[in-house]
Amino acid sequence: MVCIYCSNETRVTNSRHQKRTNGVWRRRTCVVCGTTFTTREEIDLTGSITVKSQKQLEAFQRDKLFMSIFDSLRHRKTALEDATALTDTIISRLYPFMKDVIIDRTHIIEVTLQSLRQFDKAAATHYEAFHPTAGKPTRR
Ligand SMILES: [Zn+2]
Repeated sequence: MVCIYCSNETRVTNSRHQKRTNGVWRRRTCVVCGTTFTTREEIDLTGSITVKSQKQLEAFQRDKLFMSIFDSLRHRKTALEDATALTDTIISRLYPFMKDVIIDRTHIIEVTLQSLRQFDKAAATHYEAFHPTAGKPTRR
């Protein structure tokens, strides 16, 4: 990765594996101007995971999940930070449900609801109102 200011080479000065997101955090320093900045490497499920809802299949979109969580947390002053952290947590909890690159929408809703319940009861109630689980998970 090149420097954000002068486009010269950078070197990694610090690196940490982030267990929660299964990502990597890196501190980089430009070899020419000395600027230091942070990069993150994370799994991008878009394009690799398909969501199954009823009869339809669609590409997994992190932003869509994020927005539904953010919407439920709007009453909190820290909604943006909370929604960002919760989205990461929920995605990591979804891995066990991903089989053959397809995840059932019901599992996403259930895991999100569970996570919201642990975090903020009002948010969980709000989320549930907009995402009724309506019975059993759809079978493939
Ligand atoms: Zn530079």
